[in-house]
Amino acid sequence: MCNYDALVVGSGFAGAVAARRLAEEASKRVLVVERRDHIGGNAYDCLDQAGVLIHRYGPHIFHTNDKRVFHYLSRFTSWQDYQHKVVASIPLKEGGRTQFPVPFNLTSLAAAFGPEDGQRLKEKLLAAYGAENKVTILELRQNPDPEIAALADYVYEHIFVHYTTKQWGQRPEDIDPNTTARVPIFLSEDCRYFQDAYQGMPLQGYTPLFQRMLDHPNITMELGTDALKHLDVSGESILLDGKRFDRPVIYTGQADELFAFQYGPLPYRALDFVFQTLPMDFYQTHGTVNYTVDENFTRITEFKHLTGQKIPGVTTIMREYSRAYTGLAGEIPYYAIINRSNNALYAKYAALAARHPNLHLLGRLAEYKYYNMDAITARALELTDRLI
Ligand code: FAD
Ligand code: UDP
Repeated sequence: MCNYDALVVGSGFAGAVAARRLAEEASKRVLVVERRDHIGGNAYDCLDQAGVLIHRYGPHIFHTNDKRVFHYLSRFTSWQDYQHKVVASIPLKEGGRTQFPVPFNLTSLAAAFGPEDGQRLKEKLLAAYGAENKVTILELRQNPDPEIAALADYVYEHIFVHYTTKQWGQRPEDIDPNTTARVPIFLSEDCRYFQDAYQGMPLQGYTPLFQRMLDHPNITMELGTDALKHLDVSGESILLDGKRFDRPVIYTGQADELFAFQYGPLPYRALDFVFQTLPMDFYQTHGTVNYTVDENFTRITEFKHLTGQKIPGVTTIMREYSRAYTGLAGEIPYYAIINRSNNALYAKYAALAARHPNLHLLGRLAEYKYYNMDAITARALELTDRLI
Protein backbone atom coordinates (compact mmCIF):
# COMPACT_ATOMS: atom_id res chain seq x y z
CA MET A 1 0.00 0.00 0.00
CA CYS A 2 2.89 2.35 0.68
CA ASN A 3 4.07 2.29 -2.95
CA TYR A 4 1.52 4.85 -4.07
CA ASP A 5 1.68 8.64 -4.38
CA ALA A 6 -1.80 9.12 -2.92
CA LEU A 7 -4.42 7.11 -1.05
CA VAL A 8 -8.12 7.67 -1.65
CA VAL A 9 -10.57 6.05 0.76
CA GLY A 10 -13.99 5.47 -0.83
CA SER A 11 -15.12 5.34 -4.45
CA GLY A 12 -18.26 7.51 -4.43
CA PHE A 13 -18.32 10.85 -6.24
CA ALA A 14 -15.85 12.39 -3.78
CA GLY A 15 -13.25 9.63 -4.05
CA ALA A 16 -13.65 8.85 -7.74
CA VAL A 17 -13.36 12.46 -8.92
CA ALA A 18 -10.37 13.11 -6.65
CA ALA A 19 -8.61 9.91 -7.75
CA ARG A 20 -9.10 10.59 -11.44
CA ARG A 21 -7.78 14.14 -11.22
CA LEU A 22 -4.69 13.19 -9.22
CA ALA A 23 -3.98 10.26 -11.55
CA GLU A 24 -4.55 12.12 -14.78
CA GLU A 25 -3.57 15.72 -14.08
CA ALA A 26 -0.82 15.25 -11.48
CA SER A 27 0.47 11.89 -12.79
CA LYS A 28 0.16 10.41 -9.31
CA ARG A 29 -0.11 6.67 -8.77
CA VAL A 30 -3.34 6.52 -6.78
CA LEU A 31 -4.65 3.67 -4.67
CA VAL A 32 -8.42 3.73 -4.14
CA VAL A 33 -9.71 1.45 -1.41
CA GLU A 34 -13.39 0.74 -1.10
CA ARG A 35 -15.04 -1.20 1.69
CA ARG A 36 -18.02 -2.33 -0.38
CA ASP A 37 -17.83 -4.89 -3.17
CA HIS A 38 -18.61 -2.25 -5.80
CA ILE A 39 -17.62 1.27 -6.86
CA GLY A 40 -19.86 4.35 -6.91
CA GLY A 41 -20.77 4.79 -3.22
CA ASN A 42 -24.43 5.56 -2.73
CA ALA A 43 -24.87 6.46 -6.41
CA TYR A 44 -24.25 2.82 -7.44
CA ASP A 45 -26.85 1.31 -9.78
CA CYS A 46 -27.27 -2.20 -11.19
CA LEU A 47 -29.78 -4.53 -12.86
CA ASP A 48 -32.00 -6.45 -10.46
CA GLN A 49 -33.09 -10.07 -11.01
CA ALA A 50 -35.88 -8.96 -13.33
CA GLY A 51 -33.45 -6.93 -15.46
CA VAL A 52 -34.69 -3.56 -14.18
CA LEU A 53 -32.02 -0.91 -13.61
CA ILE A 54 -32.27 0.09 -9.94
CA HIS A 55 -30.48 2.47 -7.58
CA ARG A 56 -29.53 0.26 -4.66
CA TYR A 57 -29.11 3.14 -2.19
CA GLY A 58 -32.06 5.36 -3.07
CA PRO A 59 -33.16 7.35 -6.11
CA HIS A 60 -30.37 9.52 -7.57
CA ILE A 61 -31.24 12.28 -10.03
CA PHE A 62 -28.38 14.39 -11.28
CA HIS A 63 -29.04 18.14 -11.39
CA THR A 64 -26.78 21.17 -11.25
CA ASN A 65 -26.26 24.79 -12.24
CA ASP A 66 -22.50 24.32 -12.04
CA LYS A 67 -21.10 24.28 -15.59
CA ARG A 68 -17.71 23.01 -14.51
CA VAL A 69 -19.19 20.03 -12.67
CA PHE A 70 -21.46 19.18 -15.57
CA HIS A 71 -18.64 19.37 -18.12
CA TYR A 72 -16.25 17.39 -15.95
CA LEU A 73 -18.71 14.52 -15.44
CA SER A 74 -19.74 14.65 -19.10
CA ARG A 75 -16.27 13.35 -19.97
CA PHE A 76 -17.36 10.02 -18.52
CA THR A 77 -20.97 9.79 -19.64
CA SER A 78 -23.59 11.03 -22.08
CA TRP A 79 -26.85 12.06 -20.51
CA GLN A 80 -30.45 11.24 -20.99
CA ASP A 81 -32.74 14.18 -20.37
CA TYR A 82 -34.92 13.52 -17.35
CA GLN A 83 -36.89 16.22 -15.56
CA HIS A 84 -37.81 14.79 -12.16
CA LYS A 85 -41.41 15.31 -11.06
CA VAL A 86 -42.78 14.32 -7.67
CA VAL A 87 -46.33 14.23 -6.37
CA ALA A 88 -47.68 13.98 -2.86
CA SER A 89 -50.25 11.21 -2.39
CA ILE A 90 -52.83 12.28 0.17
CA PRO A 91 -55.78 10.34 1.61
CA LEU A 92 -59.18 12.01 1.26
CA LYS A 93 -61.67 12.18 4.16
CA GLU A 94 -64.37 10.70 1.93
CA GLY A 95 -62.10 7.79 0.95
CA GLY A 96 -59.68 7.33 -1.93
CA ARG A 97 -56.62 9.48 -2.49
CA THR A 98 -55.62 12.61 -4.36
CA GLN A 99 -52.22 13.74 -5.56
CA PHE A 100 -50.63 17.07 -6.40
CA PRO A 101 -47.15 18.32 -7.29
CA VAL A 102 -44.33 18.70 -4.76
CA PRO A 103 -42.84 21.27 -4.31
CA PHE A 104 -46.27 22.74 -3.56
CA ASN A 105 -46.86 25.15 -6.47
CA LEU A 106 -49.68 27.01 -8.23
CA THR A 107 -50.92 23.75 -9.78
CA SER A 108 -51.01 22.14 -6.33
CA LEU A 109 -52.86 25.19 -5.02
CA ALA A 110 -55.62 24.84 -7.64
CA ALA A 111 -55.84 21.07 -7.00
CA ALA A 112 -56.07 21.48 -3.22
CA PHE A 113 -58.37 24.53 -2.99
CA GLY A 114 -60.45 24.42 -6.19
CA PRO A 115 -60.65 27.11 -8.89
CA GLU A 116 -62.24 29.96 -6.87
CA ASP A 117 -60.35 29.86 -3.58
CA GLY A 118 -57.26 28.75 -5.47
CA GLN A 119 -57.37 31.84 -7.70
CA ARG A 120 -57.80 34.23 -4.75
CA LEU A 121 -54.94 32.64 -2.82
CA LYS A 122 -52.78 32.66 -5.91
CA GLU A 123 -53.29 36.42 -6.33
CA LYS A 124 -52.40 37.01 -2.69
CA LEU A 125 -49.29 34.87 -2.89
CA LEU A 126 -48.11 36.50 -6.11
CA ALA A 127 -48.64 39.95 -4.59
CA ALA A 128 -46.72 38.96 -1.46
CA TYR A 129 -43.78 37.05 -2.99
CA GLY A 130 -43.77 37.62 -6.79
CA ALA A 131 -44.25 35.16 -9.66
CA GLU A 132 -41.68 32.37 -10.17
CA ASN A 133 -40.24 32.96 -6.69
CA LYS A 134 -39.70 30.37 -3.99
CA VAL A 135 -40.57 30.71 -0.33
CA THR A 136 -39.80 28.24 2.42
CA ILE A 137 -42.55 26.72 4.56
CA LEU A 138 -41.04 28.28 7.68
CA GLU A 139 -41.14 31.74 6.02
CA LEU A 140 -44.67 31.24 4.72
CA ARG A 141 -45.83 30.40 8.24
CA GLN A 142 -44.61 33.83 9.40
CA ASN A 143 -46.96 35.67 7.01
CA PRO A 144 -49.45 37.77 9.07
CA ASP A 145 -52.28 37.63 6.49
CA PRO A 146 -54.83 35.18 7.98
CA GLU A 147 -55.67 33.60 4.60
CA ILE A 148 -51.99 33.04 3.74
CA ALA A 149 -51.42 31.76 7.28
CA ALA A 150 -54.26 29.25 6.80
CA LEU A 151 -52.72 28.16 3.50
CA ALA A 152 -49.33 27.81 5.20
CA ASP A 153 -50.96 25.60 7.85
CA TYR A 154 -52.49 23.47 5.11
CA VAL A 155 -49.15 23.00 3.34
CA TYR A 156 -47.37 22.37 6.64
CA GLU A 157 -49.91 19.72 7.59
CA HIS A 158 -50.24 18.05 4.16
CA ILE A 159 -46.64 18.20 2.91
CA PHE A 160 -44.15 18.81 5.68
CA VAL A 161 -44.96 17.81 9.22
CA HIS A 162 -45.64 14.08 8.84
CA TYR A 163 -43.05 13.47 6.12
CA THR A 164 -40.37 15.32 8.07
CA THR A 165 -41.25 13.48 11.27
CA LYS A 166 -40.94 10.16 9.43
CA GLN A 167 -37.66 11.19 7.78
CA TRP A 168 -35.92 12.84 10.72
CA GLY A 169 -37.83 11.80 13.84
CA GLN A 170 -38.30 15.54 14.45
CA ARG A 171 -40.70 18.29 13.40
CA PRO A 172 -39.82 20.80 10.63
CA GLU A 173 -39.20 23.66 13.08
CA ASP A 174 -36.72 21.51 15.05
CA ILE A 175 -34.42 20.50 12.16
CA ASP A 176 -31.90 22.56 10.20
CA PRO A 177 -34.04 25.09 8.24
CA ASN A 178 -31.90 24.45 5.14
CA THR A 179 -33.36 20.96 4.96
CA THR A 180 -37.01 21.90 4.43
CA ALA A 181 -35.81 24.87 2.34
CA ARG A 182 -34.69 22.28 -0.25
CA VAL A 183 -38.40 21.82 -1.06
CA PRO A 184 -39.89 25.33 -1.01
CA ILE A 185 -43.32 26.56 -2.01
CA PHE A 186 -42.88 27.57 -5.66
CA LEU A 187 -45.04 30.37 -7.13
CA SER A 188 -45.05 28.84 -10.57
CA GLU A 189 -46.83 26.32 -12.78
CA ASP A 190 -43.48 24.55 -13.25
CA CYS A 191 -44.08 21.09 -11.77
CA ARG A 192 -40.47 19.89 -11.84
CA TYR A 193 -38.72 19.00 -8.56
CA PHE A 194 -35.56 20.86 -9.63
CA GLN A 195 -35.13 23.92 -11.84
CA ASP A 196 -31.39 23.48 -12.47
CA ALA A 197 -29.96 24.20 -15.92
CA TYR A 198 -28.45 20.72 -16.29
CA GLN A 199 -30.58 17.79 -15.26
CA GLY A 200 -30.68 14.16 -16.31
CA MET A 201 -29.49 10.62 -15.85
CA PRO A 202 -26.22 9.09 -17.04
CA LEU A 203 -27.22 7.38 -20.30
CA GLN A 204 -26.04 3.88 -19.32
CA GLY A 205 -26.36 4.49 -15.57
CA TYR A 206 -24.11 5.71 -12.75
CA THR A 207 -21.93 2.61 -12.41
CA PRO A 208 -20.57 2.84 -15.99
CA LEU A 209 -19.83 6.53 -15.32
CA PHE A 210 -17.72 5.49 -12.31
CA GLN A 211 -16.08 2.65 -14.26
CA ARG A 212 -14.88 5.11 -16.90
CA MET A 213 -13.76 7.66 -14.32
CA LEU A 214 -11.71 5.09 -12.40
CA ASP A 215 -10.33 3.46 -15.54
CA HIS A 216 -6.89 5.07 -15.71
CA PRO A 217 -3.45 3.45 -15.78
CA ASN A 218 -2.40 5.39 -12.66
CA ILE A 219 -5.38 4.20 -10.61
CA THR A 220 -5.40 0.92 -8.68
CA MET A 221 -8.78 -0.03 -7.28
CA GLU A 222 -9.16 -2.37 -4.31
CA LEU A 223 -12.72 -3.40 -3.53
CA GLY A 224 -13.82 -5.10 -0.33
CA THR A 225 -11.01 -3.38 1.60
CA ASP A 226 -11.57 -1.44 4.78
CA ALA A 227 -9.00 1.37 4.87
CA LEU A 228 -9.19 1.53 8.65
CA LYS A 229 -7.53 -1.89 8.86
CA HIS A 230 -4.44 -0.28 7.29
CA LEU A 231 -4.60 3.43 8.06
CA ASP A 232 -3.67 4.91 11.44
CA VAL A 233 -4.01 8.65 12.00
CA SER A 234 -3.98 8.54 15.81
CA GLY A 235 -0.35 9.63 16.23
CA GLU A 236 1.91 12.43 15.03
CA SER A 237 2.24 11.00 11.51
CA ILE A 238 -0.05 9.08 9.22
CA LEU A 239 0.76 5.38 9.22
CA LEU A 240 -0.17 2.97 6.46
CA ASP A 241 0.39 -0.68 7.33
CA GLY A 242 2.53 0.57 10.20
CA LYS A 243 4.83 2.69 7.96
CA ARG A 244 4.92 6.45 7.74
CA PHE A 245 2.95 7.73 4.71
CA ASP A 246 3.79 11.35 3.86
CA ARG A 247 1.65 11.69 0.77
CA PRO A 248 -1.95 12.86 0.33
CA VAL A 249 -4.71 10.81 1.91
CA ILE A 250 -8.21 11.71 0.76
CA TYR A 251 -10.66 10.16 3.16
CA THR A 252 -14.38 10.06 2.27
CA GLY A 253 -15.70 7.83 5.08
CA GLN A 254 -17.06 8.83 8.51
CA ALA A 255 -14.90 11.28 10.45
CA ASP A 256 -15.86 9.80 13.84
CA GLU A 257 -14.91 6.29 12.75
CA LEU A 258 -11.52 7.48 11.45
CA PHE A 259 -10.67 8.61 14.97
CA ALA A 260 -12.09 5.53 16.71
CA PHE A 261 -15.14 7.48 17.97
CA GLN A 262 -12.96 9.05 20.65
CA TYR A 263 -15.36 11.93 21.27
CA GLY A 264 -18.43 9.73 20.79
CA PRO A 265 -20.38 8.82 17.65
CA LEU A 266 -21.81 11.44 15.29
CA PRO A 267 -25.59 10.98 14.91
CA TYR A 268 -27.00 9.91 11.53
CA ARG A 269 -30.27 8.75 10.00
CA ALA A 270 -30.32 5.34 8.36
CA LEU A 271 -32.71 4.14 5.66
CA ASP A 272 -34.24 0.78 4.86
CA PHE A 273 -35.05 0.26 1.20
CA VAL A 274 -37.73 -2.30 0.37
CA PHE A 275 -37.75 -3.31 -3.30
CA GLN A 276 -40.67 -4.96 -5.04
CA THR A 277 -40.86 -6.21 -8.62
CA LEU A 278 -44.32 -6.25 -10.19
CA PRO A 279 -45.71 -7.80 -13.40
CA MET A 280 -46.91 -4.57 -15.03
CA ASP A 281 -45.51 -1.80 -17.26
CA PHE A 282 -45.83 0.94 -14.63
CA TYR A 283 -47.03 1.02 -11.01
CA GLN A 284 -47.41 4.78 -10.52
CA THR A 285 -47.71 7.99 -12.54
CA HIS A 286 -44.43 9.61 -11.47
CA GLY A 287 -40.83 8.67 -10.73
CA THR A 288 -41.39 9.39 -7.05
CA VAL A 289 -44.61 9.60 -5.06
CA ASN A 290 -44.27 11.07 -1.55
CA TYR A 291 -46.59 9.78 1.19
CA THR A 292 -46.78 13.04 3.06
CA VAL A 293 -49.64 12.34 5.47
CA ASP A 294 -50.04 8.61 6.11
CA GLU A 295 -48.05 5.33 5.79
CA ASN A 296 -44.82 4.71 7.66
CA PHE A 297 -42.56 4.91 4.62
CA THR A 298 -41.71 8.32 3.15
CA ARG A 299 -41.87 7.68 -0.58
CA ILE A 300 -42.14 5.14 -3.39
CA THR A 301 -39.78 5.41 -6.35
CA GLU A 302 -40.32 3.59 -9.63
CA PHE A 303 -37.00 3.36 -11.41
CA LYS A 304 -38.23 2.94 -14.98
CA HIS A 305 -39.58 6.52 -14.89
CA LEU A 306 -36.13 7.80 -13.88
CA THR A 307 -33.95 5.74 -16.17
CA GLY A 308 -36.22 5.64 -19.22
CA GLN A 309 -35.48 1.92 -19.47
CA LYS A 310 -37.78 0.19 -21.96
CA ILE A 311 -38.66 -3.20 -20.50
CA PRO A 312 -42.31 -4.18 -20.93
CA GLY A 313 -44.46 -6.12 -18.48
CA VAL A 314 -42.22 -5.69 -15.45
CA THR A 315 -41.32 -2.85 -13.12
CA THR A 316 -39.47 -2.42 -9.83
CA ILE A 317 -40.52 -0.01 -7.10
CA MET A 318 -38.88 0.86 -3.81
CA ARG A 319 -40.28 2.08 -0.50
CA GLU A 320 -38.03 4.11 1.81
CA TYR A 321 -38.21 3.79 5.59
CA SER A 322 -36.15 6.13 7.72
CA ARG A 323 -34.85 5.43 11.23
CA ALA A 324 -32.05 6.31 13.62
CA TYR A 325 -28.60 4.98 12.75
CA THR A 326 -27.30 2.71 15.50
CA GLY A 327 -23.86 1.83 14.15
CA LEU A 328 -24.58 -1.92 13.96
CA ALA A 329 -22.51 -3.88 11.43
CA GLY A 330 -23.82 -3.53 7.90
CA GLU A 331 -25.84 -0.40 8.63
CA ILE A 332 -25.18 2.62 6.41
CA PRO A 333 -25.24 6.19 7.77
CA TYR A 334 -27.13 8.00 5.00
CA TYR A 335 -27.86 11.43 6.42
CA ALA A 336 -25.87 13.62 8.80
CA ILE A 337 -28.21 15.27 11.29
CA ILE A 338 -27.15 18.88 11.03
CA ASN A 339 -27.61 20.94 14.19
CA ARG A 340 -25.49 23.03 16.51
CA SER A 341 -24.40 20.30 18.91
CA ASN A 342 -23.66 17.74 16.18
CA ASN A 343 -21.70 20.35 14.21
CA ALA A 344 -19.69 21.11 17.35
CA LEU A 345 -18.93 17.41 17.81
CA TYR A 346 -17.92 17.17 14.16
CA ALA A 347 -15.62 20.20 14.57
CA LYS A 348 -13.66 18.26 17.21
CA TYR A 349 -12.99 15.45 14.73
CA ALA A 350 -12.14 17.97 11.98
CA ALA A 351 -9.60 19.55 14.36
CA LEU A 352 -7.95 16.14 14.87
CA ALA A 353 -7.74 15.69 11.10
CA ALA A 354 -6.26 19.19 10.67
CA ARG A 355 -3.18 18.11 12.65
CA HIS A 356 -2.17 16.11 9.56
CA PRO A 357 -1.52 18.48 6.63
CA ASN A 358 -1.75 15.55 4.16
CA LEU A 359 -5.09 14.27 5.42
CA HIS A 360 -8.11 15.66 3.56
CA LEU A 361 -11.66 14.99 4.70
CA LEU A 362 -13.90 15.07 1.65
CA GLY A 363 -17.49 13.97 1.11
CA ARG A 364 -20.89 13.70 2.63
CA LEU A 365 -19.70 11.55 5.53
CA ALA A 366 -16.22 12.94 6.05
CA GLU A 367 -17.48 16.54 6.12
CA TYR A 368 -20.77 15.73 7.88
CA LYS A 369 -22.79 17.66 5.28
CA TYR A 370 -25.95 17.25 3.21
CA TYR A 371 -24.23 17.36 -0.19
CA ASN A 372 -25.90 16.54 -3.48
CA MET A 373 -23.80 14.77 -6.11
CA ASP A 374 -22.97 18.02 -7.92
CA ALA A 375 -21.92 19.76 -4.70
CA ILE A 376 -19.53 16.98 -3.70
CA THR A 377 -18.13 16.84 -7.23
CA ALA A 378 -17.48 20.59 -7.00
CA ARG A 379 -15.73 20.09 -3.63
CA ALA A 380 -13.56 17.31 -5.09
CA LEU A 381 -12.61 19.54 -8.02
CA GLU A 382 -11.68 22.40 -5.65
CA LEU A 383 -9.61 20.19 -3.37
CA THR A 384 -7.72 18.63 -6.25
CA ASP A 385 -7.15 22.09 -7.83
CA ARG A 386 -5.13 22.81 -4.70
CA LEU A 387 -3.31 19.45 -4.71
CA ILE A 388 -2.38 19.37 -8.40
P1 FAD B 1 -20.62 8.07 -0.70
O1 FAD B 1 -21.35 7.92 -1.96
O2 FAD B 1 -21.28 7.65 0.57
O3 FAD B 1 -19.24 7.28 -0.84
C1 FAD B 1 -18.38 7.04 0.25
C2 FAD B 1 -17.72 5.70 0.01
O4 FAD B 1 -16.68 5.51 0.96
C3 FAD B 1 -18.67 4.53 0.17
O5 FAD B 1 -18.65 3.72 -1.00
C4 FAD B 1 -18.14 3.79 1.39
O6 FAD B 1 -18.30 2.37 1.29
C5 FAD B 1 -16.66 4.16 1.33
N1 FAD B 1 -16.00 4.03 2.64
C6 FAD B 1 -16.37 4.60 3.81
N2 FAD B 1 -15.51 4.25 4.79
C7 FAD B 1 -14.58 3.45 4.22
C8 FAD B 1 -13.44 2.77 4.71
N3 FAD B 1 -13.09 2.83 6.01
N4 FAD B 1 -12.70 2.04 3.86
C9 FAD B 1 -13.04 1.95 2.55
N5 FAD B 1 -14.11 2.57 2.02
C10 FAD B 1 -14.88 3.31 2.86
N6 FAD B 1 -27.74 13.58 -4.66
C11 FAD B 1 -28.18 14.16 -5.81
O7 FAD B 1 -27.46 15.01 -6.39
N7 FAD B 1 -29.38 13.81 -6.37
C12 FAD B 1 -30.19 12.89 -5.79
O8 FAD B 1 -31.29 12.60 -6.32
C13 FAD B 1 -29.77 12.26 -4.59
N8 FAD B 1 -30.55 11.36 -3.98
C14 FAD B 1 -30.13 10.79 -2.81
C15 FAD B 1 -30.97 9.85 -2.20
C16 FAD B 1 -30.58 9.26 -1.02
C17 FAD B 1 -31.51 8.27 -0.36
C18 FAD B 1 -29.34 9.61 -0.43
C19 FAD B 1 -28.93 8.97 0.87
C20 FAD B 1 -28.50 10.51 -1.04
C21 FAD B 1 -28.88 11.11 -2.24
N9 FAD B 1 -28.06 12.03 -2.90
C22 FAD B 1 -28.50 12.64 -4.05
C23 FAD B 1 -26.73 12.41 -2.36
C24 FAD B 1 -25.61 11.54 -2.93
O9 FAD B 1 -25.81 10.20 -2.55
C25 FAD B 1 -24.28 12.08 -2.36
O10 FAD B 1 -24.09 13.40 -2.74
C26 FAD B 1 -23.07 11.29 -2.83
O11 FAD B 1 -23.25 9.91 -2.74
C27 FAD B 1 -21.88 11.71 -1.99
O12 FAD B 1 -20.73 11.04 -2.44
P2 FAD B 1 -19.57 10.70 -1.43
O13 FAD B 1 -18.46 10.18 -2.25
O14 FAD B 1 -19.32 11.86 -0.54
O15 FAD B 1 -20.17 9.57 -0.45
N1 UDP C 1 -39.91 17.28 2.74
C1 UDP C 1 -41.18 17.13 3.23
N2 UDP C 1 -42.16 16.66 2.40
C2 UDP C 1 -41.92 16.32 1.11
C3 UDP C 1 -40.62 16.47 0.61
C4 UDP C 1 -39.62 16.94 1.47
O1 UDP C 1 -41.43 17.40 4.40
O2 UDP C 1 -42.85 15.90 0.41
C5 UDP C 1 -38.86 17.79 3.66
C6 UDP C 1 -38.26 16.66 4.50
O3 UDP C 1 -37.88 17.21 5.74
C7 UDP C 1 -37.06 16.27 3.68
C8 UDP C 1 -36.58 17.63 3.18
O4 UDP C 1 -37.80 18.36 2.92
O5 UDP C 1 -36.08 15.61 4.44
C9 UDP C 1 -35.70 17.62 1.96
O6 UDP C 1 -36.33 16.86 0.94
P1 UDP C 1 -35.48 16.32 -0.29
O7 UDP C 1 -36.41 15.69 -1.26
O8 UDP C 1 -34.59 17.39 -0.78
O9 UDP C 1 -34.59 15.20 0.41
P2 UDP C 1 -33.61 14.12 -0.25
O10 UDP C 1 -34.44 12.91 -0.37
O11 UDP C 1 -33.13 14.67 -1.56
O12 UDP C 1 -32.52 13.99 0.74
